Amino acid sequence: MEKESYDIKSMTLSEIKTVIASMGEKPFRAKQLYEWMHVKLARSYEEMTNLPKSLRQQLAQKYPYISLREVTIQTSKLDGTKKYLFALADGNYVESVWMQYHHGNSVCISSQVGCRMGCRFCASTLDGLERNLTPSEMLEQIYMISRNTGERVSNIVVMGTGEPLDNYDNLLRFLYMVSDENGLNISQRNITVSTCGIVENMRRLAKEKLQITLALSLHGSTQEKRQELMPIANRYAIDEVISACRYYFEQTGRRVTFEYSLVGGVNDTETDAENLCKLIAGLNCHINLIPVNPIQERDYIASERRDVLNFQSRLEKKHINATVRREMGRDIDGACGQLRRRFGDLN
Ligand code: SAH
Repeated sequence: MEKESYDIKSMTLSEIKTVIASMGEKPFRAKQLYEWMHVKLARSYEEMTNLPKSLRQQLAQKYPYISLREVTIQTSKLDGTKKYLFALADGNYVESVWMQYHHGNSVCISSQVGCRMGCRFCASTLDGLERNLTPSEMLEQIYMISRNTGERVSNIVVMGTGEPLDNYDNLLRFLYMVSDENGLNISQRNITVSTCGIVENMRRLAKEKLQITLALSLHGSTQEKRQELMPIANRYAIDEVISACRYYFEQTGRRVTFEYSLVGGVNDTETDAENLCKLIAGLNCHINLIPVNPIQERDYIASERRDVLNFQSRLEKKHINATVRREMGRDIDGACGQLRRRFGDLN
């Protein structure tokens, strides 16, 4: 965690203390600066009015202040979900989503610009990976939305564009910072990280013993079915992935979530449901069933309502918790990566 090359908004409080000391400033300035960035959500050094002007000038010279630029906001007429498109300093775009549930406000953030995992039904991966996001760029998606809505963010899901465990070091730093009591202080229990199943990093994350929820994108209940939809399955066998989930639970005590996107005629039959029950037998988990959100570039279709409910009831008969996810923001390019791509087309 002590990389020197990080931008200032990606630095931990103790790293900021070192920076402040090296500038010959009093130690309490570190906490003030950290608070401006991560609690008061300042947009620039100029806003940090209780820091001496000379310090602000020095900081501005040495440490460019990372912030995002709001490009578009789409608000769903169906459920108030908001989808944000942000520009990064280098001209790349990322998208983030704001969702209001009865239990609180959730923000879904992106972890990379593009993605190299290649899942067949996903829009984020169609142009491959452009680059990783830094911790500050992940934080700033939340800060921008928080400023825009004026409301407190209580839950975070790392389920936007990108594979978080393919950007492991930055993700880990982000997780520590966003749950830091000196920063936004979001409870780790209210944070979910979703992965397509990069086994060694699932195990590394387990060893950190954070209280976050790990969500595994399963989408197939046998090795063959999974391979059809997810190229990552060629790298890790389904049994290895499930055993990493078991390990995560053992290490953290946190129940794992499985994401299962139902694709009409591909993974939604009764046999699929039965195989799924066998695969995860005895595992303390929860399953989210999501009818696939069709994207223009692929001809996958969502499962029929009847098949979705049938699939769910087969799981429940085996006492496996399964929720059919409400599809939020369907009218505003709800599925990952759709907005960023459409915007790219328009330009
Ligand atoms: N790379 C991570 C997180 C980003 S994707 C992962 O794979 O989990 C977040 C979730 O949305 C994943 O479960 C992914 O498989 C799913 N997803 C992507 N495109 C989708 C689509 N068009 N319809 C339904 N679910 C989709």
